[in-house]
Amino acid sequence: MKQESAEVLNLDVQKLVEMLNAALCEEWLAYYQYWVGAHVAEGPMRSEVESEMLVHADEELAHANKLIARIVQLGGTPVLSPDQWMKLARCKYEAPTDVYVETILEQNLRGERCAIKRYRDLADYTDGVDYTTAKMAVEILEDELEHEEDILAFQRDIVSLKRTFDKMIK
Ligand code: FE
Ligand code: FE
Ligand code: MG
Repeated sequence: MKQESAEVLNLDVQKLVEMLNAALCEEWLAYYQYWVGAHVAEGPMRSEVESEMLVHADEELAHANKLIARIVQLGGTPVLSPDQWMKLARCKYEAPTDVYVETILEQNLRGERCAIKRYRDLADYTDGVDYTTAKMAVEILEDELEHEEDILAFQRDIVSLKRTFDKMIK
């Protein structure tokens, strides 16, 4: 049911719901990409990367929860079928067909950078006109920035691990 609060928003609610639905699709794809990647990854630091990727997967699902709650509050219809996920998502799903951990981290990094752009756009669109959505977008953005930083830290660790190993065998 459409709430009174949605009526007073001085913005295009339909466009906002479209953006929120696209973000919802992206979160489900991000969830699956992290989750499946965590289970198949192989290579240096596999077990550390695996557990952090599973944590990230849970956090993407928490984002999906926030998004669907806001869509319903705004009187919108959330995406009802997984058929729509690939069609509506701007951030593309990258299947971990190469299971080497560095390749998987690169794929997830691209996903996070796309997510960061998504929540900046949502925050910009709602800034000063829909405080609830703007606040939510900024909160999710902070998580996505943390995800990006976690991946970059793993990449640096793997590079220095390889460097140490190279020195040992010389
Ligand atoms: Fe997310
Ligand atoms: Fe993320
Ligand atoms: Mg993390």
